[in-house]
Amino acid sequence: MTLSPYLLAIDQGTTSSRAIVFDRLGKNCITSQKELSQIYPADGWVEHDPEEIWQTTLAVCRESLSAIEQSPVAIGITNQRETIVLWERATGRTLHNAIVWQDRRTAKRCEGLRNNGHEPFIKQKTGLLLDPYFSATKISWLLDNVEGARIRAQAGELAVGTIDSFLLWRLTGGKVHATDATNASRTLLFNIHSQQWDPELLSLFDIPESLLPDIRDCADDYGYTDTDLLGSAIPICGIAGDQQAALLGQACIQPGMVKSTYGTGCFAIVNTGPAVLSSQNRLLTTVAYRVSGQTTYALEGSIFVAGAAIQWLRDGLGIIQSAHESEELAGALTSNRGVYMVPAFTGLGAPYWDPQARGALFGLTRDTGINDLVRSALESVCYQTVDLLKAMTNDHVPEISTLRIDGGMAKNSWQMQFLADILNIPVQRPTTTETTALGAASLAALQVGIIGSLDELADRWQEDARFEPAMNDVERQTLLRRWQRAVKSTRTFSENR
Ligand code: ADP
Repeated sequence: MTLSPYLLAIDQGTTSSRAIVFDRLGKNCITSQKELSQIYPADGWVEHDPEEIWQTTLAVCRESLSAIEQSPVAIGITNQRETIVLWERATGRTLHNAIVWQDRRTAKRCEGLRNNGHEPFIKQKTGLLLDPYFSATKISWLLDNVEGARIRAQAGELAVGTIDSFLLWRLTGGKVHATDATNASRTLLFNIHSQQWDPELLSLFDIPESLLPDIRDCADDYGYTDTDLLGSAIPICGIAGDQQAALLGQACIQPGMVKSTYGTGCFAIVNTGPAVLSSQNRLLTTVAYRVSGQTTYALEGSIFVAGAAIQWLRDGLGIIQSAHESEELAGALTSNRGVYMVPAFTGLGAPYWDPQARGALFGLTRDTGINDLVRSALESVCYQTVDLLKAMTNDHVPEISTLRIDGGMAKNSWQMQFLADILNIPVQRPTTTETTALGAASLAALQVGIIGSLDELADRWQEDARFEPAMNDVERQTLLRRWQRAVKSTRTFSENR
């Protein structure tokens, strides 16, 4: 009897480390998860303890593998992107906490570079914006602030990496220092055209190349796990950053296919095929995936407040007990009764990029109640999605025909119907909610030959629900016009705060 092959996906996220075992058909069999501590050493600084990242990752892998009676055939890794770890090559000892993507400590450095006119050149090479969010200035900060780091880096004694690279180093017992093209494309050091570390960028950020990992395809040979760790030497065969992995987990492998993840915030990413589109709307150009040496690109944008608007109603105002309840409360009304929420609690993202903006509610009457506020919060996430997809369309992405959704909010069927109505395109929800982990497992499956090509992902992707647009044009245009007016008024109010 031959046993069915299993694949292990490691999903190392911002708030937790998870391990998920999939069977050969991509069905999720076992999930194990451990929370991760958030460290805030100063205003705007966010760190993780790299040993905790490693220990929780190892623990969840062991826990999930203990439930199957055989070794997995391969491992795929997906991870929080941009976060940086610095360690000693000889011992694997880390020299500082990981600096997390959200960390703003290098804002002044970025401002200085921008004032010196470096942004257009950086954007042209990397597809990104000059922002502390990305890894380069975090690495520079570590070299400048960890005692002796710069001299030791120049002597080749140190290694740096995003979380995939750090985990790979630890999993292989220090044998492999590598990363994949999607993670590399979030560092501000990677030239998305040449697909290599860029010497001019390395010099601008003053980072020696000897610090950095090798860059490989997303489906590639990344070495074997040290036998002492998981009971046997398991090949590591796939790596991708979390949003890119989710794009694959949603089988968005044709140009124009979009996945949108609705968690606390929302991340939307559209496959643009082999084309490197340069955004005029401050969207990011990034590597979607690189397989067999062929790069597929994407445009990415984010909405700062999605599920967070519902969290605010629940935890801030205390007017609902659970996020789940929002579906029934919104659906009990036949219209929004003229109430609009602009949840610009931390500014507005693409296409507005207005950090000054702060939230507002419009159209309140004596009759306005909890249902209206809930509905306006859910609708606001959908209107913001329209704005984001419009920005993508203005950047000449291939025609967007459907939207594939995931994340906590995707469970809300009332909201997803409204999303389809207001976008005027179908919205598809998959049966598997673990799209990110599935993407990582799929890359490993491709490398070991369980699947022959990425096209097979499309055959395996299964729909749980499809929401067809059913709103008439006049109503949609009216709602969108009022939303636009609400955004404009919010921004006017917030000017020169
Ligand atoms: P994250 O990964 O950012 O922690 P999740 O994908 O777990 O987020 O989604 C959680 C978010 O989804 C929360 O902000 C919550 O308010 C929202 N949410 C969860 N269930 C629903 C629902 N049924 N309707 C609307 N929002 C929901």
